[in-house]
This record gives sequence, structure tokens and C-alpha cells, in this order.
Amino acid sequence: MYLKTLTLRGFKSFASTTTLRFEPGITAVVGPNGSGKSNVVDALTWVMGEQGAKSLRGAKMADVIFAGTALKPALGRAEVSLTIDNSDGVLPIDYTEVTITRTMFRGGGSEYAINGTPARLLDIQELLSDTGMGKQMHVIVGQGQLDAILSATPVERRGFIEESAGILKHRRRKERALRKLESMSDKAARVQDLASELK
Ligand code: ATP
Repeated sequence: MYLKTLTLRGFKSFASTTTLRFEPGITAVVGPNGSGKSNVVDALTWVMGEQGAKSLRGAKMADVIFAGTALKPALGRAEVSLTIDNSDGVLPIDYTEVTITRTMFRGGGSEYAINGTPARLLDIQELLSDTGMGKQMHVIVGQGQLDAILSATPVERRGFIEESAGILKHRRRKERALRKLESMSDKAARVQDLASELK
């Protein structure tokens, strides 16, 4: 599995459609200060479901949409597509190439798609969760993040390890199942009350 292409449309400083093609191995992005290198990394984290504006170096989520320059007007939507080569089948999906797309409108709300089919954030998270590329991904180490990992509490460090080992997905499923179970036992108790009233 490797990242094949990243296409940005209206994302941060990338007003026009821009496609970056990667090959297996090492890719270096070079450029002068402020030319958009970190914006490329932001686009990667965003398309994989990042929900925090701060992690994307903005104050609010809509800050990822091209805000306009002296020459170009602001845009109303941002879209990023990430194509992953899955010929080794690491992603649990029957496609040798997987494209994840996230779109956001200035009015708010994000839409996701997997190979052009609308998907939920949860679907994206589950698809990526065993690859170490999930929401709290550790494949992307931002500026200053190493310090944060080194000074993390034991509980936070355990979270990093669980995410990397793919345990977090099962923990989330367990939590959802427990919530359902709780609401079912409330309903069962209510049914029992009604049944005893009818006796
Ligand atoms: P450095 O080498 O200094 O870290 P960089 O190449 O990583 O720089 P970025 O931080 O990726 O640069 O890009 C910063 C540029 O992106 C700034 O010029 C900023 O104005 C522009 N930018 C960020 N968000 C938006 C937006 N929503 N609309 C338009 N431009 C934006």
C-alpha cells in the first residue's frame, strides 16, 4: 500500500486543481517559506477525517477553504482526493486502488466518498484504522509533535500504541455495543413494568 496521488481543489492556498503524484519510496516536498508545503500535509490529514481546526492550523474548519487573494476571489468549497494503491490488499476493501474524497462547503458540513460512493466519516476511519493512518494518525508527525509525544502521560502514550496496533477500532465498537446494550436493557425493564401492570 502506498499513496499514489493527492488532488487539492480550493484547499487552503491551492485555489486551482493541483495533483501531486507520489511513487513508492521517499518523496520530498521542497519550496520557499509560505509556498504551501505544510498545506499539503494538512490536506492529507484533512481527507483522512481530521476534525480539529487547530490541528489544521486554523481557527475554524472553514479556514481550509481558499480564502482569496488580491488576484483570485475566495471559493465556496474545498475538496481533497487521496488515491491509495491497494494492490497488496492492506486496506480491507475489494479494490486495488482506493480514492477517498472529502468535500466541505463554506456553509459547513463535510461530505466523504470512497471510490465515488458517498460514505460516512466512520467508514473512512474504519477503512484506515488498521493501517496506522487513522484519525489520530502517527504516520504524520507535525512540527513540535515529537515534543508532545515525549511529554505525553502514560495514558496518552497507551492511546498512541493502541491506535498504531489497531486496537482503538475495537474499543470504539465495544463502546457502541455497550451503549446499545444499555438502551436495550432500559427498554426491557420498561417492557417488564408494563407486563407486570397488565397481570
Ligand atoms: P514554511 O516553510 O514557512 O513552513 P510552508 O511552505 O509550509 O511554509 P504553508 O504553511 O503550507 O507554507 O502555507 C502558508 C500559506 O498558505 C500562507 O501564504 C497562507 O496565506 C496560505 N493559506 C493558508 N490558508 C489559506 C486559505 N484558506 N486560503 C488561501 N491561502 C491560505
